Amino acid sequence: MALIVQKYGGSSVGNIDKINAVAKRVIDYYRQGNQMVIVLSAMEGQTDGLIKMAHEIADNPDPRELDVLMSTGEQISVALFAMAVKAMGYDARSLLGFQAAIHTSRMYGKARIHTIDTDRITNELKKQRIITVAGFQGLDDHGDITTLGRGGSDTTAVALAAALNADVCEILTDVNGIYTTDPGICPKARKMDIISYEEMLEMASLGAKVLEIRSVEFAKKYNVPIHVRSSFTRERGTMVVSETKDMEKVMVSNVAYNKNEARVTIKKVPDQPGTAARVFKPVLESGIVVDMIVQNTSEDGTTDLTFTVPKADFYKTMKLVSDVARKIGAEKVSGDENIAKISVIGVGMRSHAGVAQKMFEVLAEHNINITMISTSEIKVSCVIDEKYTELAVRALHEAFGLENDRKNDQ
Ligand code: ASP
Ligand code: MG
Repeated sequence: MALIVQKYGGSSVGNIDKINAVAKRVIDYYRQGNQMVIVLSAMEGQTDGLIKMAHEIADNPDPRELDVLMSTGEQISVALFAMAVKAMGYDARSLLGFQAAIHTSRMYGKARIHTIDTDRITNELKKQRIITVAGFQGLDDHGDITTLGRGGSDTTAVALAAALNADVCEILTDVNGIYTTDPGICPKARKMDIISYEEMLEMASLGAKVLEIRSVEFAKKYNVPIHVRSSFTRERGTMVVSETKDMEKVMVSNVAYNKNEARVTIKKVPDQPGTAARVFKPVLESGIVVDMIVQNTSEDGTTDLTFTVPKADFYKTMKLVSDVARKIGAEKVSGDENIAKISVIGVGMRSHAGVAQKMFEVLAEHNINITMISTSEIKVSCVIDEKYTELAVRALHEAFGLENDRKNDQ
């Protein structure tokens, strides 16, 4: 017998038929002798709909009330799911965040889970019930409802799995696992059996939506194995786990891309202490997230500064930066929306030299110009012209041998 925490995303509980299908699946696991704790997201589109209503009332809806509102989406799905299980002849109980004793910080809209008191859930499990817990919500120390940030049900599931010392945390979704790259643009993309927390964190920070980034951080901290798999089939998906020796045998495990950034360049910025601080201050104060930053060494007392921001913030950034550029006497500001960031990721980079070099060579062979480069311990990213994204991804996937299983040496 195992204690299994499963989380089903909004697309898996998007209508009544789907809720019934999930209930059937959970009952199957239960009948095999497992204890089941089921975390649900709101039905597909519901959270967006709630946020939209709030914004029809106010430009900046009151954050406390917005959390009260947003938490209702999950309340609906857990209630319907528990009813479905009962209608099929099994006992179930739905618990909202506060009933499951999920205590959070007081940050509305992005609260962090501090503690979970598992007594209630454990007692319900002893009564042979299937338990369903509303994802994405908790209670702060003033007794107010909080939500954890978009995609937060993943974190609820991982945190519950850690607190209950579950055997596994399964994230059931509309894809059947984590792929070596986007199968939509690379036919040779392969579903991975296993990926490390570190690699998954890099992928999430590059925009992969399969797992919310905080849930992966949580899983890494408490060493909770996550099984990402399809809610529509029984096939095994991908295990997200601590790094193993095998993983280091290959240089690269994933190729990722991001077309959602734009580049801003300021030419001939006076090379003096404090200029970078002045350039970025208005950008950061507007809540715009700057990603890559490159600055050249100066030759004639001036230097060029290039950075990327989300595409949605491009025009605003251009305006803010043009204003400062004038004030500090920089020559001009230019920008490009048609860029893509291509990244290769792999824990094997720690022990293999030459990953960046190989990446540059592959791009050069295909005549793809690199405009920016950044690296981390387990990632190399290059900015290229957006129109070469597909070509670059396929070429790198091939060159790093990603269609082969990771256990085979490259
Ligand atoms: N319903 C919330 C959202 O749409 C939380 C979640 O689905 O994980 O972001
Ligand atoms: Mg999600």
